[in-house]
Amino acid sequence: MNILIVHAHPEPQSFCTAMKDLAVATLQGAGHQVQVSDLYAMGWNPVASAADFTVRSNPDYLVYALEQREAVKADALAPDIAAELDKLLWADLLILNFPLFWCSVPAMLKGWIDRVLVSGTCYGGLRFYDRGGLAGKRALLSFSLGGQQHMFADEAAVHGDWEPMLRPLQRGTLAYVGMRVLPPFAAYHVPYVSSGARAVILEQYRTYLLGLENIEPLRFPSLADFDRGLRPLGQQVPA
Ligand SMILES: Cc1cc2nc3c(=O)[nH]c(=O)nc-3n(C[C@H](O)[C@H](O)[C@H](O)COP(=O)(O)OP(=O)(O)OC[C@H]3O[C@@H](n4cnc5c(N)ncnc54)[C@H](O)[C@@H]3O)c2cc1C
Repeated sequence: MNILIVHAHPEPQSFCTAMKDLAVATLQGAGHQVQVSDLYAMGWNPVASAADFTVRSNPDYLVYALEQREAVKADALAPDIAAELDKLLWADLLILNFPLFWCSVPAMLKGWIDRVLVSGTCYGGLRFYDRGGLAGKRALLSFSLGGQQHMFADEAAVHGDWEPMLRPLQRGTLAYVGMRVLPPFAAYHVPYVSSGARAVILEQYRTYLLGLENIEPLRFPSLADFDRGLRPLGQQVPA
């Protein structure tokens, strides 16, 4: 299997970076091909702008997604985006590895998502969810965080459960472009636990990665269950 790990942590000695390194070693050891986009190390530019296109279809007014679509056809994506898109299209599995920032990805990684998941290739028109451009691939979130597991156990927990928190990433992004999304791996409370406890978390991550083939993806909508207006089949349309 071809695996792309997109890693976003500013500190090369961080625990989160150790998770990335462990994933590379474990997955290569299991016979997979692995590429890493280490966004801070690459000096990745996370800011979507007009400079993302070497030729503009409409130079007077920037509609970013429309320019993406035209740039795909005209081979006019900026070279840094084109290189990442090539890696993404090569991959069977995408791992986003990051420290949780404000219940989401760091801006560096958000900017990778904004710029690399281009309209025209990854989605567009009615090509989303199970008809998305990246259908057939799998994806997962692996992240470290300060919070403890019980704080996210269910809706009664202090932060509520994970599903609504991660929905913009897991459903609104990864599933939207067609990927089957595996359950996330969360490394809880890492700044506050002992070194031994952190070693246990890394071991749990290794076990998770070695079992990837047998992990059931999360369930997201199939467009087959919706009509042409994207209303659930069987729902009455108001007169
Ligand atoms: C802007 C911002 C927003 C945040 N938002 C949230 C939030 O919404 N929810 C939340 O829960 N948290 C949040 N946090 C906390 C953040 O998610 C955690 O601090 C981060 O995930 C911890 O991971 P790290 O890799 O940065 O840890 P580090 O601080 O790098 O490492 C923790 C410890 O692990 C040690 N370590 C490194 N490598 C290894 C190894 N191989 N084995 C054992 N130990 C090792 C390090 O030396 C260090 O002592 C936020 C933080 C910031 C800065």
